[in-house]
Amino acid sequence: MAIKFRGVDFIGFDTLLTDDERLVRDTARKFIEDNLIPIIEECNRAGRFPRELVKPMGELGFFGASLKGYGCAGMSNVEYGLVTQELERGDSGVRSFVSVQSALVMYPIYAFGSDEQKQTWLPAMQNGEKLGCFGLTEPDFGSNPGGMRTRARKVGNEYVLNGEKMWITSGSIADVAVIWAKLEDEDNTVRGFLVETDRPGFRAEDIHGKWSLRASVTSSLSLQDVGIPVSNLLPKSGGLKSPLMCLNQARYGIAWGAVGAAMACYDCALQYSLFRKQFHDQPIASHQLVQEKLAWMITEVTKAQLLVLQVGRLKDQDKAQHQHISMAKRNNVWMALECARLSRDILGANGVADEYPIFRHMANLESVKTYEGTHDIHTLIIGQSVTGIDAF
Ligand SMILES: Cc1cc2nc3c(=O)[nH]c(=O)nc-3n(C[C@H](O)[C@H](O)[C@H](O)COP(=O)(O)OP(=O)(O)OC[C@H]3O[C@@H](n4cnc5c(N)ncnc54)[C@H](O)[C@@H]3O)c2cc1C
Repeated sequence: MAIKFRGVDFIGFDTLLTDDERLVRDTARKFIEDNLIPIIEECNRAGRFPRELVKPMGELGFFGASLKGYGCAGMSNVEYGLVTQELERGDSGVRSFVSVQSALVMYPIYAFGSDEQKQTWLPAMQNGEKLGCFGLTEPDFGSNPGGMRTRARKVGNEYVLNGEKMWITSGSIADVAVIWAKLEDEDNTVRGFLVETDRPGFRAEDIHGKWSLRASVTSSLSLQDVGIPVSNLLPKSGGLKSPLMCLNQARYGIAWGAVGAAMACYDCALQYSLFRKQFHDQPIASHQLVQEKLAWMITEVTKAQLLVLQVGRLKDQDKAQHQHISMAKRNNVWMALECARLSRDILGANGVADEYPIFRHMANLESVKTYEGTHDIHTLIIGQSVTGIDAF
């Protein structure tokens, strides 16, 4: 049975969007429908990143979409969010690629970089000619990146970097890595460094055997006495706050993206339940227990849409705080994962086959729940915000 996505709008959500926002959303939706949906299951099976989509995505302005200048599209935060929603409706791995390129590489260059760094990298990253990765996590430090062991020290007119990074999206396909390291000469303050990936001593190796985000490249990075010019330090970076600001940008896009994955699963399960017949030649949608699942999903998707739209509106007014973004990321990814599990159930045995997108979304969302601050770390961020007490 061929199921074509129809969009999900229970309470007139579209009326809350401007014409421009709907246009951006519809353009991204059509791009995904025409270009990603026909190939994504093959990519997922093969563990292949669809690199052929990089250039067209650049042409549509998806990279660094909310940045101003340097050829970037200058979208509002809500428009950018709607793009990530549509990307993740296609696949979380492809959305992850765009999030890393935009929020974790272009954003720190934009926010903390020198004019020269911005001129060198942003126009080339905006159109997808150059790709980036973000190296924060290490084998022994994930939720607590402040413990990182990667070090930089100044030697003449160079910084020399040593360390290991783990679980790095786009690591082996990147031209430049934003590496977070403690600068020994500055009392081990965390700083950001731009490391061209062809520098001697830099090595990226892909992590194989992932059951999740299979259409996205994930790598480990090793830096052994990698020398970079002093001009490669991101001059306005300083302290752990800097990478956390980047993560905030990315988490915002993820909160929208998760709505896209949930919409894909819900809409597929709804269509399937109306088509599939069991007992008395009746569609399974006629059974109360199936309807309960559908009702739960449409309610949660609708709440998630409203939550992330409000956070986006706040962000566009420069009023969004990190705890707002934590709430949206935590809630929406959890909601999407629950929708994927319920939808998988509604499809019965067909739910475990990749003829339908649900199991892929479900497996992808397990990573999304963990990266960019795990579900529980966001619980602690919200808890700290409302109580004033740090429970990490
Ligand atoms: C596919 C994929 C892509 C990724 N891409 C990137 C990338 O591009 N760049 C990058 O830098 N990183 C990336 N990551 C890494 C990701 O950000 C980390 O996995 C994440 O921060 C969690 O760290 P960890 O895996 O070490 O888990 P841990 O920190 O070891 O956590 C394990 C468990 O312990 C819990 N826990 C930890 N501390 C506490 C606490 N204080 N209280 C209660 N519970 C706690 C966590 O919630 C979790 O359930 C990626 C990960 C994946 C899976």
